[in-house]
Amino acid sequence: MADNTTAEKKKLFIKTYGCQMNVYDSERMVEAMDGAGYETTDTPDDADMILLNTCHIREKAAEKVYSELGRFKGLKAEKPDLKIGVAGCVAQAEGKEIMRRQPIVDLVVGPQAYHRLPEMEAKTQEGAKALDTDFPEEDKFEKLKRRPKAKRAPTAFLTVQEGCDKFCAFCVVPYTRGAEVSRPVDRVITEAQDLVERGVREITLLGQNVNAYHGTHSSGDMTLAGLIWELDKIDGLERIRFTTSHPNDMMDDLIEAHGTCSKLMPYLHLPVQSGSDKILKRMNRNHDRDSYIKLIERIRAARPDLMLSGDFIVGFPEETEADFQDTLDLIKEVKYGQAYSFKYSTRPGTPAAERPLVDEAEANDRLQRLQALLSTQQKEIQNSMVGREVNVLYEKAGRLEGQMVGKSDYLHAVFVADPKGKVGDIKRVRIVESSANSLGAVLV
Ligand code: SAM
Ligand code: SF4
Repeated sequence: MADNTTAEKKKLFIKTYGCQMNVYDSERMVEAMDGAGYETTDTPDDADMILLNTCHIREKAAEKVYSELGRFKGLKAEKPDLKIGVAGCVAQAEGKEIMRRQPIVDLVVGPQAYHRLPEMEAKTQEGAKALDTDFPEEDKFEKLKRRPKAKRAPTAFLTVQEGCDKFCAFCVVPYTRGAEVSRPVDRVITEAQDLVERGVREITLLGQNVNAYHGTHSSGDMTLAGLIWELDKIDGLERIRFTTSHPNDMMDDLIEAHGTCSKLMPYLHLPVQSGSDKILKRMNRNHDRDSYIKLIERIRAARPDLMLSGDFIVGFPEETEADFQDTLDLIKEVKYGQAYSFKYSTRPGTPAAERPLVDEAEANDRLQRLQALLSTQQKEIQNSMVGREVNVLYEKAGRLEGQMVGKSDYLHAVFVADPKGKVGDIKRVRIVESSANSLGAVLV
Protein backbone atom coordinates (compact mmCIF):
# COMPACT_ATOMS: atom_id res chain seq x y z
CA MET A 1 0.00 0.00 0.00
CA ALA A 2 1.24 3.50 -0.77
CA ASP A 3 2.56 5.44 2.20
CA ASN A 4 0.95 8.86 2.01
CA THR A 5 2.90 10.61 4.76
CA THR A 6 3.82 14.19 3.89
CA ALA A 7 7.57 13.45 3.61
CA GLU A 8 6.90 10.83 0.95
CA LYS A 9 4.42 12.83 -1.05
CA LYS A 10 4.88 13.73 -4.68
CA LYS A 11 4.07 17.22 -5.86
CA LEU A 12 1.13 18.20 -8.05
CA PHE A 13 0.97 21.59 -9.78
CA ILE A 14 -2.54 22.32 -10.99
CA LYS A 15 -3.57 25.37 -13.01
CA THR A 16 -7.24 26.18 -13.50
CA TYR A 17 -8.74 28.10 -16.41
CA GLY A 18 -12.30 29.27 -16.98
CA CYS A 19 -15.39 29.06 -14.83
CA GLN A 20 -16.10 28.30 -11.18
CA MET A 21 -17.07 24.75 -12.14
CA ASN A 22 -13.46 24.20 -13.13
CA VAL A 23 -12.32 25.63 -9.78
CA TYR A 24 -14.55 23.06 -8.06
CA ASP A 25 -13.33 20.23 -10.33
CA SER A 26 -9.70 21.16 -9.61
CA GLU A 27 -10.36 20.91 -5.87
CA ARG A 28 -11.89 17.47 -6.33
CA MET A 29 -8.95 16.35 -8.51
CA VAL A 30 -6.50 17.51 -5.82
CA GLU A 31 -8.46 15.48 -3.26
CA ALA A 32 -8.47 12.42 -5.55
CA MET A 33 -4.72 12.73 -6.13
CA ASP A 34 -4.11 13.08 -2.39
CA GLY A 35 -5.20 9.43 -2.19
CA ALA A 36 -2.59 8.63 -4.85
CA GLY A 37 0.19 10.19 -2.76
CA TYR A 38 0.27 13.74 -4.13
CA GLU A 39 0.17 17.12 -2.44
CA THR A 40 -0.07 20.45 -4.24
CA THR A 41 2.75 22.82 -5.03
CA ASP A 42 2.55 26.44 -6.19
CA THR A 43 5.31 26.15 -8.75
CA PRO A 44 5.61 23.89 -11.79
CA ASP A 45 9.40 23.73 -11.30
CA ASP A 46 9.30 21.31 -8.36
CA ALA A 47 6.26 19.34 -9.57
CA ASP A 48 6.16 15.60 -10.29
CA MET A 49 2.92 16.14 -12.14
CA ILE A 50 1.53 19.20 -13.91
CA LEU A 51 -2.18 19.29 -14.62
CA LEU A 52 -3.89 22.01 -16.66
CA ASN A 53 -7.65 22.12 -16.03
CA THR A 54 -8.78 23.81 -19.20
CA CYS A 55 -11.66 25.81 -20.64
CA HIS A 56 -12.90 25.62 -24.23
CA ILE A 57 -15.53 28.35 -24.20
CA ARG A 58 -13.56 30.75 -26.39
CA GLU A 59 -10.90 30.15 -29.00
CA LYS A 60 -8.14 32.02 -27.20
CA ALA A 61 -8.61 29.91 -24.07
CA ALA A 62 -7.65 26.72 -25.98
CA GLU A 63 -4.70 28.44 -27.67
CA LYS A 64 -3.46 29.60 -24.27
CA VAL A 65 -3.34 25.97 -23.17
CA TYR A 66 -1.16 24.99 -26.12
CA SER A 67 1.25 27.84 -25.50
CA GLU A 68 1.37 27.00 -21.77
CA LEU A 69 2.17 23.37 -22.65
CA GLY A 70 4.95 24.63 -24.93
CA ARG A 71 6.54 26.35 -21.94
CA PHE A 72 6.80 23.01 -20.09
CA LYS A 73 8.91 21.41 -22.84
CA GLY A 74 12.21 22.44 -21.22
CA LEU A 75 11.05 21.20 -17.81
CA LYS A 76 10.06 17.81 -19.24
CA ALA A 77 13.46 17.53 -21.00
CA GLU A 78 15.22 18.16 -17.66
CA LYS A 79 12.91 15.83 -15.71
CA PRO A 80 11.75 12.97 -17.96
CA ASP A 81 9.73 11.48 -15.05
CA LEU A 82 7.55 14.60 -14.87
CA LYS A 83 3.97 13.74 -15.84
CA ILE A 84 1.96 16.33 -17.76
CA GLY A 85 -1.81 16.12 -17.95
CA VAL A 86 -4.63 18.09 -19.55
CA ALA A 87 -8.10 18.02 -17.96
CA GLY A 88 -11.33 19.94 -18.53
CA CYS A 89 -13.20 20.98 -21.64
CA VAL A 90 -10.22 21.35 -24.02
CA ALA A 91 -9.31 17.77 -23.07
CA GLN A 92 -12.87 16.69 -23.84
CA ALA A 93 -13.07 18.53 -27.15
CA GLU A 94 -9.60 17.83 -28.53
CA GLY A 95 -8.88 14.39 -26.97
CA LYS A 96 -5.97 12.58 -28.64
CA GLU A 97 -5.20 15.63 -30.79
CA ILE A 98 -3.58 17.24 -27.72
CA MET A 99 -1.01 14.43 -27.49
CA ARG A 100 -0.40 14.69 -31.23
CA ARG A 101 0.10 18.47 -31.14
CA GLN A 102 2.09 18.38 -27.92
CA PRO A 103 3.84 15.01 -27.38
CA ILE A 104 5.05 15.96 -23.87
CA VAL A 105 1.46 15.35 -22.67
CA ASP A 106 1.10 12.01 -20.83
CA LEU A 107 -2.52 12.19 -19.80
CA VAL A 108 -5.78 13.65 -21.15
CA VAL A 109 -8.91 13.46 -18.99
CA GLY A 110 -12.37 14.90 -19.71
CA PRO A 111 -14.54 16.60 -17.07
CA GLN A 112 -16.77 13.53 -16.60
CA ALA A 113 -13.90 11.09 -16.06
CA TYR A 114 -11.61 12.80 -13.56
CA HIS A 115 -12.49 10.37 -10.77
CA ARG A 116 -10.35 7.93 -12.78
CA LEU A 117 -7.32 10.25 -12.55
CA PRO A 118 -5.39 8.16 -9.96
CA GLU A 119 -5.64 5.02 -12.17
CA MET A 120 -4.59 7.05 -15.17
CA GLU A 121 -1.60 8.48 -13.32
CA ALA A 122 -0.56 4.93 -12.36
CA LYS A 123 -0.67 3.99 -16.04
CA THR A 124 1.63 6.88 -16.96
CA GLN A 125 4.09 5.70 -14.28
CA GLU A 126 4.40 2.50 -16.33
CA GLY A 127 5.42 4.61 -19.31
CA ALA A 128 2.07 4.52 -21.12
CA LYS A 129 -0.08 7.45 -22.25
CA ALA A 130 -3.54 7.70 -20.67
CA LEU A 131 -6.63 9.11 -22.40
CA ASP A 132 -10.18 9.15 -20.99
CA THR A 133 -12.83 11.39 -22.48
CA ASP A 134 -15.77 9.04 -21.80
CA PHE A 135 -19.09 10.03 -20.34
CA PRO A 136 -19.07 6.98 -18.04
CA GLU A 137 -22.21 5.35 -16.65
CA GLU A 138 -20.86 5.49 -13.09
CA ASP A 139 -21.37 8.75 -11.20
CA LYS A 140 -18.03 10.47 -10.73
CA PHE A 141 -19.25 12.17 -7.55
CA GLU A 142 -20.04 8.74 -6.09
CA LYS A 143 -16.60 7.43 -6.89
CA LEU A 144 -14.88 10.43 -5.31
CA LYS A 145 -14.29 10.22 -1.58
CA ARG A 146 -16.19 12.31 0.97
CA ARG A 147 -14.59 15.73 1.36
CA PRO A 148 -11.59 15.67 3.75
CA LYS A 149 -11.95 17.07 7.26
CA ALA A 150 -9.13 19.67 7.23
CA LYS A 151 -10.14 23.28 7.98
CA ARG A 152 -10.67 25.41 4.90
CA ALA A 153 -11.70 28.86 3.65
CA PRO A 154 -15.16 30.12 4.73
CA THR A 155 -16.55 30.12 1.18
CA ALA A 156 -16.85 27.11 -1.11
CA PHE A 157 -18.24 26.03 -4.46
CA LEU A 158 -20.41 22.93 -4.70
CA THR A 159 -21.36 21.52 -8.10
CA VAL A 160 -24.98 20.30 -8.08
CA GLN A 161 -25.74 20.14 -11.79
CA GLU A 162 -23.66 19.59 -14.90
CA GLY A 163 -24.15 19.74 -18.63
CA CYS A 164 -26.67 21.57 -20.74
CA ASP A 165 -29.52 20.69 -23.09
CA LYS A 166 -30.13 24.24 -24.33
CA PHE A 167 -27.80 24.30 -27.35
CA CYS A 168 -27.34 28.05 -27.73
CA ALA A 169 -26.01 28.48 -31.26
CA PHE A 170 -22.61 29.83 -30.12
CA CYS A 171 -21.81 27.50 -27.24
CA VAL A 172 -19.65 24.36 -26.85
CA VAL A 173 -20.88 23.41 -23.37
CA PRO A 174 -23.55 20.88 -24.50
CA TYR A 175 -20.81 19.08 -26.46
CA THR A 176 -17.98 19.24 -23.90
CA ARG A 177 -19.97 18.78 -20.68
CA GLY A 178 -22.74 16.61 -22.12
CA ALA A 179 -26.44 16.41 -21.27
CA GLU A 180 -27.95 18.03 -18.21
CA VAL A 181 -27.56 15.91 -15.04
CA SER A 182 -28.46 16.83 -11.45
CA ARG A 183 -26.91 15.27 -8.34
CA PRO A 184 -29.32 13.68 -5.83
CA VAL A 185 -30.39 15.97 -2.98
CA ASP A 186 -29.01 13.81 -0.13
CA ARG A 187 -25.53 13.71 -1.75
CA VAL A 188 -25.48 17.49 -2.06
CA ILE A 189 -26.60 17.88 1.56
CA THR A 190 -23.90 15.46 2.81
CA GLU A 191 -21.23 17.36 0.89
CA ALA A 192 -22.53 20.70 2.20
CA GLN A 193 -22.50 19.36 5.77
CA ASP A 194 -18.90 18.16 5.31
CA LEU A 195 -17.95 21.64 4.08
CA VAL A 196 -19.69 23.36 7.02
CA GLU A 197 -17.86 21.07 9.47
CA ARG A 198 -14.64 22.34 7.90
CA GLY A 199 -15.53 25.97 8.59
CA VAL A 200 -17.43 26.89 5.43
CA ARG A 201 -20.16 29.50 6.01
CA GLU A 202 -21.08 30.35 2.43
CA ILE A 203 -21.76 27.85 -0.36
CA THR A 204 -22.20 28.74 -4.02
CA LEU A 205 -24.14 26.03 -5.82
CA LEU A 206 -22.77 25.52 -9.31
CA GLY A 207 -24.14 24.28 -12.59
CA GLN A 208 -23.94 25.27 -16.25
CA ASN A 209 -27.68 25.76 -15.87
CA VAL A 210 -27.98 25.54 -12.14
CA ASN A 211 -31.60 26.72 -11.98
CA ALA A 212 -32.61 23.77 -14.17
CA TYR A 213 -31.61 21.57 -11.19
CA HIS A 214 -34.00 18.67 -10.58
CA GLY A 215 -32.36 16.28 -8.13
CA THR A 216 -33.93 13.09 -6.82
CA HIS A 217 -35.25 13.20 -3.27
CA SER A 218 -37.38 10.87 -1.13
CA SER A 219 -40.28 13.27 -1.75
CA GLY A 220 -39.81 13.08 -5.56
CA ASP A 221 -37.83 15.36 -7.88
CA MET A 222 -36.70 18.55 -6.19
CA THR A 223 -36.17 21.95 -7.82
CA LEU A 224 -33.28 24.28 -7.03
CA ALA A 225 -35.55 26.22 -4.66
CA GLY A 226 -36.35 22.94 -2.84
CA LEU A 227 -32.64 22.19 -2.55
CA ILE A 228 -31.97 25.70 -1.20
CA TRP A 229 -34.63 25.20 1.49
CA GLU A 230 -32.99 21.87 2.46
CA LEU A 231 -29.60 23.62 2.73
CA ASP A 232 -31.23 26.40 4.73
CA LYS A 233 -31.74 23.82 7.53
CA ILE A 234 -27.98 23.26 7.99
CA ASP A 235 -26.78 24.98 11.18
CA GLY A 236 -23.61 26.96 10.61
CA LEU A 237 -24.29 27.50 6.90
CA GLU A 238 -25.10 31.21 6.72
CA ARG A 239 -25.09 32.10 3.05
CA ILE A 240 -26.27 30.39 -0.12
CA ARG A 241 -25.64 31.54 -3.69
CA PHE A 242 -26.05 29.83 -7.05
CA THR A 243 -24.67 30.33 -10.55
CA THR A 244 -25.16 30.24 -13.59
CA SER A 245 -28.84 30.50 -14.41
CA HIS A 246 -30.83 30.56 -17.63
CA PRO A 247 -33.80 32.99 -17.82
CA ASN A 248 -36.16 30.21 -18.96
CA ASP A 249 -35.48 28.12 -15.85
CA MET A 250 -36.20 30.93 -13.38
CA MET A 251 -39.22 29.20 -11.81
CA ASP A 252 -41.79 30.77 -9.47
CA ASP A 253 -40.55 28.90 -6.36
CA LEU A 254 -37.00 30.18 -6.96
CA ILE A 255 -38.19 33.76 -7.41
CA GLU A 256 -40.21 33.40 -4.21
CA ALA A 257 -37.19 31.99 -2.32
CA HIS A 258 -35.32 35.19 -3.17
CA GLY A 259 -37.91 37.05 -1.14
CA THR A 260 -38.33 34.59 1.73
CA CYS A 261 -35.10 32.63 2.35
CA SER A 262 -32.83 34.79 4.50
CA LYS A 263 -29.76 32.65 3.76
CA LEU A 264 -30.20 33.10 0.01
CA MET A 265 -28.07 36.13 -0.89
CA PRO A 266 -29.57 39.07 -2.84
CA TYR A 267 -27.44 38.50 -5.91
CA LEU A 268 -28.34 36.84 -9.19
CA HIS A 269 -26.27 36.07 -12.27
CA LEU A 270 -28.79 35.90 -15.10
CA PRO A 271 -27.14 36.13 -18.53
CA VAL A 272 -29.13 37.61 -21.40
CA GLN A 273 -26.33 37.68 -24.05
CA SER A 274 -28.06 40.25 -26.30
CA GLY A 275 -30.83 42.86 -26.18
CA SER A 276 -31.90 42.29 -29.80
CA ASP A 277 -34.80 39.93 -30.48
CA LYS A 278 -33.37 39.09 -33.89
CA ILE A 279 -30.02 38.05 -32.37
CA LEU A 280 -31.62 36.23 -29.42
CA LYS A 281 -33.58 34.15 -31.93
CA ARG A 282 -30.47 33.38 -33.96
CA MET A 283 -28.64 32.50 -30.76
CA ASN A 284 -31.42 29.97 -30.05
CA ARG A 285 -31.88 31.46 -26.57
CA ASN A 286 -35.64 30.72 -26.61
CA HIS A 287 -36.50 33.94 -24.80
CA ASP A 288 -36.87 37.49 -26.03
CA ARG A 289 -35.95 40.89 -24.70
CA ASP A 290 -39.38 41.65 -23.31
CA SER A 291 -39.77 38.34 -21.44
CA TYR A 292 -36.31 38.87 -19.89
CA ILE A 293 -37.20 42.38 -18.70
CA LYS A 294 -40.55 41.20 -17.29
CA LEU A 295 -38.75 38.38 -15.49
CA ILE A 296 -36.31 40.83 -13.90
CA GLU A 297 -39.27 42.94 -12.75
CA ARG A 298 -40.84 39.90 -11.06
CA ILE A 299 -37.58 38.94 -9.33
CA ARG A 300 -37.05 42.53 -8.16
CA ALA A 301 -40.62 42.62 -6.85
CA ALA A 302 -39.72 39.59 -4.67
CA ARG A 303 -36.34 41.03 -3.63
CA PRO A 304 -36.10 44.79 -4.33
CA ASP A 305 -32.42 45.14 -3.35
CA LEU A 306 -31.31 42.27 -5.62
CA MET A 307 -27.93 42.85 -7.31
CA LEU A 308 -28.02 41.67 -10.87
CA SER A 309 -25.17 40.33 -12.94
CA GLY A 310 -25.12 39.17 -16.56
CA ASP A 311 -23.17 37.88 -19.55
CA PHE A 312 -23.11 39.61 -22.94
CA ILE A 313 -21.78 38.58 -26.33
CA VAL A 314 -21.05 41.28 -28.91
CA GLY A 315 -20.36 40.74 -32.60
CA PHE A 316 -22.51 37.61 -32.90
CA PRO A 317 -22.80 36.76 -36.65
CA GLU A 318 -24.91 39.33 -38.51
CA GLU A 319 -25.29 41.64 -35.48
CA THR A 320 -25.93 45.15 -36.85
CA GLU A 321 -25.28 48.46 -35.11
CA ALA A 322 -29.05 48.65 -34.44
CA ASP A 323 -28.99 45.21 -32.77
CA PHE A 324 -26.04 46.34 -30.68
CA GLN A 325 -27.90 49.53 -29.69
CA ASP A 326 -30.74 47.26 -28.46
CA THR A 327 -28.23 45.57 -26.14
CA LEU A 328 -27.00 48.94 -24.80
CA ASP A 329 -30.62 50.01 -24.24
CA LEU A 330 -31.40 46.81 -22.36
CA ILE A 331 -28.38 47.36 -20.10
CA LYS A 332 -29.53 50.94 -19.39
CA GLU A 333 -32.99 49.66 -18.54
CA VAL A 334 -32.03 46.66 -16.39
CA LYS A 335 -28.90 48.04 -14.63
CA TYR A 336 -26.21 45.52 -13.76
CA GLY A 337 -24.03 45.63 -10.65
CA GLN A 338 -21.61 43.16 -12.25
CA ALA A 339 -21.20 41.77 -15.76
CA TYR A 340 -19.05 39.64 -18.02
CA SER A 341 -18.81 40.60 -21.67
CA PHE A 342 -17.19 38.79 -24.54
CA LYS A 343 -16.53 39.28 -28.21
CA TYR A 344 -18.14 36.43 -30.15
CA SER A 345 -15.66 33.64 -30.73
CA THR A 346 -16.34 31.03 -33.42
CA ARG A 347 -16.51 27.53 -31.99
CA PRO A 348 -16.19 24.83 -34.67
CA GLY A 349 -19.10 22.39 -34.60
CA THR A 350 -21.63 24.89 -33.22
CA PRO A 351 -24.46 26.13 -35.51
CA ALA A 352 -23.29 29.78 -35.42
CA ALA A 353 -19.87 28.78 -36.76
CA GLU A 354 -21.39 28.58 -40.27
CA ARG A 355 -22.67 32.18 -40.29
CA PRO A 356 -20.99 35.37 -41.61
CA LEU A 357 -18.86 37.18 -39.06
CA VAL A 358 -19.09 40.84 -38.05
CA ASP A 359 -16.04 42.86 -39.11
CA GLU A 360 -13.34 42.36 -36.45
CA ALA A 361 -12.60 46.08 -35.90
CA GLU A 362 -16.34 46.77 -35.60
CA ALA A 363 -16.78 43.95 -33.05
CA ASN A 364 -13.82 45.26 -31.01
CA ASP A 365 -15.28 48.74 -31.06
CA ARG A 366 -18.67 47.46 -29.86
CA LEU A 367 -17.05 45.49 -27.06
CA GLN A 368 -15.26 48.64 -25.88
CA ARG A 369 -18.45 50.69 -25.95
CA LEU A 370 -20.39 47.96 -24.13
CA GLN A 371 -17.72 47.60 -21.44
CA ALA A 372 -17.55 51.37 -20.96
CA LEU A 373 -21.30 51.46 -20.30
CA LEU A 374 -21.19 48.45 -17.97
CA SER A 375 -18.31 49.83 -15.96
CA THR A 376 -19.97 53.26 -15.55
CA GLN A 377 -23.11 51.51 -14.37
CA GLN A 378 -21.22 49.25 -11.97
CA LYS A 379 -19.34 52.20 -10.54
CA GLU A 380 -22.59 54.12 -9.97
CA ILE A 381 -24.15 51.12 -8.20
CA GLN A 382 -21.01 50.59 -6.11
CA ASN A 383 -20.87 54.29 -5.15
CA SER A 384 -24.55 54.17 -4.13
CA MET A 385 -23.58 51.68 -1.39
CA VAL A 386 -21.81 54.43 0.59
CA GLY A 387 -23.75 55.14 3.77
CA ARG A 388 -25.55 51.77 3.68
CA GLU A 389 -25.25 48.99 6.26
CA VAL A 390 -24.40 45.51 4.95
CA ASN A 391 -23.12 42.18 6.29
CA VAL A 392 -19.59 41.13 5.37
CA LEU A 393 -18.14 37.61 5.55
CA TYR A 394 -14.42 37.93 6.28
CA GLU A 395 -12.27 35.90 3.89
CA LYS A 396 -8.78 37.10 4.86
CA ALA A 397 -6.78 39.76 6.69
CA GLY A 398 -6.20 42.98 4.75
CA ARG A 399 -2.80 44.51 4.03
CA LEU A 400 -3.26 47.22 6.66
CA GLU A 401 -2.94 46.53 10.40
CA GLY A 402 -6.31 45.59 11.97
CA GLN A 403 -8.05 45.31 8.59
CA MET A 404 -10.21 42.44 7.33
CA VAL A 405 -11.39 41.79 3.75
CA GLY A 406 -14.54 40.01 2.75
CA LYS A 407 -17.64 40.04 0.60
CA SER A 408 -20.92 41.81 1.22
CA ASP A 409 -24.27 40.11 0.67
CA TYR A 410 -24.18 41.77 -2.78
CA LEU A 411 -20.73 40.29 -3.52
CA HIS A 412 -18.84 43.58 -3.34
CA ALA A 413 -15.30 43.29 -1.94
CA VAL A 414 -15.26 45.22 1.36
CA PHE A 415 -12.29 46.31 3.50
CA VAL A 416 -13.26 46.68 7.17
CA ALA A 417 -11.31 48.27 10.02
CA ASP A 418 -11.78 45.52 12.63
CA PRO A 419 -8.74 44.63 14.77
CA LYS A 420 -10.65 41.83 16.52
CA GLY A 421 -12.03 40.35 13.28
CA LYS A 422 -11.32 36.75 12.33
CA VAL A 423 -11.61 34.87 9.05
CA GLY A 424 -15.13 33.39 8.90
CA ASP A 425 -16.79 36.14 10.98
CA ILE A 426 -19.88 37.79 9.55
CA LYS A 427 -20.08 41.40 10.73
CA ARG A 428 -22.56 44.22 10.26
CA VAL A 429 -20.70 47.21 8.80
CA ARG A 430 -21.41 50.65 7.38
CA ILE A 431 -19.90 51.49 4.00
CA VAL A 432 -17.88 54.71 4.24
CA GLU A 433 -16.03 54.82 0.94
CA SER A 434 -16.01 53.47 -2.59
CA SER A 435 -12.72 53.05 -4.46
CA ALA A 436 -11.78 51.48 -7.80
CA ASN A 437 -12.91 47.88 -7.21
CA SER A 438 -13.86 47.75 -3.57
CA LEU A 439 -15.66 49.40 -0.68
CA GLY A 440 -14.32 50.58 2.68
CA ALA A 441 -16.36 50.10 5.85
CA VAL A 442 -16.45 50.48 9.63
CA LEU A 443 -18.18 48.28 12.19
CA VAL A 444 -21.66 49.34 13.17
N1 SAM B 1 -25.18 28.64 -19.06
C1 SAM B 1 -24.87 29.98 -18.95
C2 SAM B 1 -25.90 30.80 -19.72
O1 SAM B 1 -26.71 30.28 -20.40
O2 SAM B 1 -25.83 31.98 -19.69
C3 SAM B 1 -23.47 30.35 -19.40
C4 SAM B 1 -22.37 29.37 -19.50
S1 SAM B 1 -21.03 29.86 -20.50
C5 SAM B 1 -19.84 28.82 -19.79
C6 SAM B 1 -20.50 31.44 -19.92
C7 SAM B 1 -20.59 32.54 -20.91
O3 SAM B 1 -19.63 32.44 -21.91
C8 SAM B 1 -21.89 32.64 -21.67
O4 SAM B 1 -22.91 33.20 -20.91
C9 SAM B 1 -21.53 33.48 -22.86
O5 SAM B 1 -21.70 34.85 -22.59
C10 SAM B 1 -20.04 33.20 -23.03
N2 SAM B 1 -19.81 32.41 -24.26
C11 SAM B 1 -20.16 31.14 -24.51
N3 SAM B 1 -19.81 30.80 -25.77
C12 SAM B 1 -19.23 31.88 -26.32
C13 SAM B 1 -18.68 32.15 -27.61
N4 SAM B 1 -18.66 31.24 -28.58
N5 SAM B 1 -18.16 33.38 -27.83
C14 SAM B 1 -18.18 34.33 -26.87
N6 SAM B 1 -18.69 34.13 -25.64
C15 SAM B 1 -19.22 32.93 -25.37
FE1 SF4 C 1 -24.06 27.36 -23.25
FE2 SF4 C 1 -25.48 28.41 -21.25
FE3 SF4 C 1 -26.54 28.24 -23.67
FE4 SF4 C 1 -26.14 26.01 -22.26
S1 SF4 C 1 -27.55 27.71 -21.77
S2 SF4 C 1 -25.70 26.28 -24.41
S3 SF4 C 1 -24.24 26.53 -21.21
S4 SF4 C 1 -24.75 29.48 -23.02
